[in-house]
Amino acid sequence: MTDDDLDDTFSGSPLRRRAPKLRFPAHEQSARDSYQLVHDELLLDGVARMNLATFCTTWAEPEVHALMAESIDKNIVDKDEYPQTAELESRCVHMLADLFHAPNAATTRGTSTTGSSEAAMLAGLAAKWRWKAKRQAAGHTEPAVPNLVSGPVQVCWEKFARYFDVELRQAPMGPGYTLTPEQVLERIDENTIGVVVTLGQTFTGLFEDVQAISDALDDLEARTGQSVDIHVDAASGGFVAPFCAPDVVWDFRLPRVKSINASGHKTGLAPIGVGWVIWREETDLPDELVFDVNYLGGSMPTFGLNFSRPGGQVIASYYNFVRLGREGFTKVQSATYAVAAHIAQEIASLGHFEVLHDGSAEKGIPAVTWTMPGDHPFTLFDLAEELRTRGWLVPAYTLPPDQQEVTVQRIVVRHGVSLDLADLVLADLRQALAKLDDRPPSRSLTPAEGSTFDHTATARVAIAHLGS
Ligand SMILES: *Cc1c(COP(=O)(O)O)cnc(C)c1O
Repeated sequence: MTDDDLDDTFSGSPLRRRAPKLRFPAHEQSARDSYQLVHDELLLDGVARMNLATFCTTWAEPEVHALMAESIDKNIVDKDEYPQTAELESRCVHMLADLFHAPNAATTRGTSTTGSSEAAMLAGLAAKWRWKAKRQAAGHTEPAVPNLVSGPVQVCWEKFARYFDVELRQAPMGPGYTLTPEQVLERIDENTIGVVVTLGQTFTGLFEDVQAISDALDDLEARTGQSVDIHVDAASGGFVAPFCAPDVVWDFRLPRVKSINASGHKTGLAPIGVGWVIWREETDLPDELVFDVNYLGGSMPTFGLNFSRPGGQVIASYYNFVRLGREGFTKVQSATYAVAAHIAQEIASLGHFEVLHDGSAEKGIPAVTWTMPGDHPFTLFDLAEELRTRGWLVPAYTLPPDQQEVTVQRIVVRHGVSLDLADLVLADLRQALAKLDDRPPSRSLTPAEGSTFDHTATARVAIAHLGS
């Protein structure tokens, strides 16, 4: 045995030195000491399950942990070496196509991705290529800038537009908070590649009305002959609406909906790192975007922005689908809606707040969003800050234009946010309110200070209004 083996972890030399930070370390140290060092650094991260800002999975069954560990070495791009992982991915695609009412779920195309952001890039690209093909067929050769119409979207669509040279025509948020058919129609012209409608808006949690927008586009086509496709960003709503609001028509039941993305790692209950994009019919994904590679053995079609990617999240998704089925997903998501309803009721009863989204299943995702109207000696940013001292992340943020004067606060109710956990955060919220009413801050936090708190020195959870 060497001295290092005998030493107590914290009296041995590695942990008595400073951690390497800016230079690649010259020497090795033991796995035990290195583990302790990294483990301790992570103490400064927030407790994920107390992060009520995130939509992402923060609790999974032990069997999911086991499957993730078993698949740590599986690269999903290597379909020849891991044909069964590829098979499970393909089954998931068809199951989701079925869940989203694709006319022929067995033949439609789709893929897993790292999340909804990559899925959005792929769906946007497919729309751009469909537009290109249509223009070519119509004999247009002059250069044109394609545009994409949307309401206030998650940042992934702004990225798509910038990365792939598309003009994003983002309608401002109106007093009703969700995109209206009129706002859509006003922004469409002959170079519109599609309309993005969000099922579970990041800022409020509300569903945008896909059916109404689709109807308006039907009308536009009847009047002008121009047919405009819809893509539904169902990052957060795709795994709740089918189970808890089956009468909300937002998916492939509407023929105009050509593609849908959903985050497997949000309401899909899978560990972080998986999204899905599904096309309505095989022909809605242009062939030019699918590449065949032969260097992994066999000829493999690949469509994605990444090459190598972990397979575990897809395997865990398949596990969740067979484990829960429609019955189990309905139970899990209904439980989150019930907790959201409880939180909404309590928030409304406190007297300070006005509930903007009460977490009802017909209106949006299981989340509660509220404002604080009237004069108070403190802001929602102060309240968010106060809750942080107890470890809760309940973000406050301003809405996008034209509602930028409105500050809201939001709780996302996920799998694992139990009634008991809700009562704990509500108790802390009541206490924080009492304190702020009694001893208001001498100067309130401004929106900028409130939402940049995290970016500075700490490596805490990402900002809430990006809706990660
Ligand atoms: C979370 C979210 C995204 C981005 O999804 P990731 O899976 O985090 O990449 C896109 N759109 C909406 C509406 C979202 O809620």
